[in-house]
Amino acid sequence: MPEISRIKLARLPTPLQPLDRLSNELGGPRIWIKRDDQTDTVASGNKLRKLEFTVARALAEDANVLITSGGVQSNHCRSTAVVASHLGLQCHLILRGSEPSEVDGNLFLDRLLGARITFLSKEQFRNIDQYLSDIATQYRDRGNTPYSIPIGASDETGIWGYINCCGELKQDFQDRQIQPDYIISAAGSGGTLGGLIIGNVLHEIGSKILAFNVCDDEEYFVNKIREDFKRWEHRYDSPVVTDHLPISVVDGYVGVGYAIAGQPVFNTIRRVAQLEGVILDPVYTGKAFHAMITELKKGRFRESKDIVFIHTGGIYGNFPQKDQFVF
Ligand SMILES: *Cc1c(COP(=O)(O)O)cnc(C)c1O
Repeated sequence: MPEISRIKLARLPTPLQPLDRLSNELGGPRIWIKRDDQTDTVASGNKLRKLEFTVARALAEDANVLITSGGVQSNHCRSTAVVASHLGLQCHLILRGSEPSEVDGNLFLDRLLGARITFLSKEQFRNIDQYLSDIATQYRDRGNTPYSIPIGASDETGIWGYINCCGELKQDFQDRQIQPDYIISAAGSGGTLGGLIIGNVLHEIGSKILAFNVCDDEEYFVNKIREDFKRWEHRYDSPVVTDHLPISVVDGYVGVGYAIAGQPVFNTIRRVAQLEGVILDPVYTGKAFHAMITELKKGRFRESKDIVFIHTGGIYGNFPQKDQFVF
């Protein structure tokens, strides 16, 4: 593997854990989860793996301000705010949506961590690149060096986070003496899925990689990930040819829209919490996990002995939606 600059932020390796009670209840393959919700406490989740590479690049470019964007309850923005404070950098977040009257979940943590926040309406957010470059210019004019991290840190650099995670998974599988048919995740900005696809090949894992999108559609993710692959091959001394790699996105579980979940998703989150002590979230992991077990019930994983779900984090996203749970 080529040597890519990286800083240590996440607590790795994260555990791989079987969900035996749930698997028995469902009567399908054994479901394992990779506990990337445990990469840290407050910075937790999948974004921290990507930020190890993205922020290393920012520091190499002498950045003292991290600028990034996402939804009002963005886990990525919250993780970035933690990392900025941890490293003594400034953080400016551009959030899509209006400022809620109640500051909860990730947004509360962003505030607590001292990030500067700009709210943009959904219409304004369509011109996010313009806002990003204007804000970066303002920082430069004051003698700072800003670095803009794309949404979800999903680009040719952040993708290393999950390429690297595959090295861990390879070891996990050896330790547990398993050969899972599928490695499954949520897709929100595509970097996790893209990294898993390359890492699966690079580390010769031999599983199928599958994602359930929680926004946009299959076509969007296939195009986005192909673009990231091209940039990755171009920037790094690519040890893998990506052209022919399959990108499997199972569409149909977005529901009404991004960050809006139906009652079955909340019920699944509650069931998994009570049966296994694992907390999913309504925006990403709960939606994707619910999709996975729905497909399982339809017979999709019938032939499989073991499947692995990447728990990409998101716990704080539960708090602003707590009224949706039925107890
Ligand atoms: C961002 C996020 C995802 C989606 O990962 P992408 O790499 O953006 O596709 C999944 N789960 C959680 C909790 C996230 O915050």
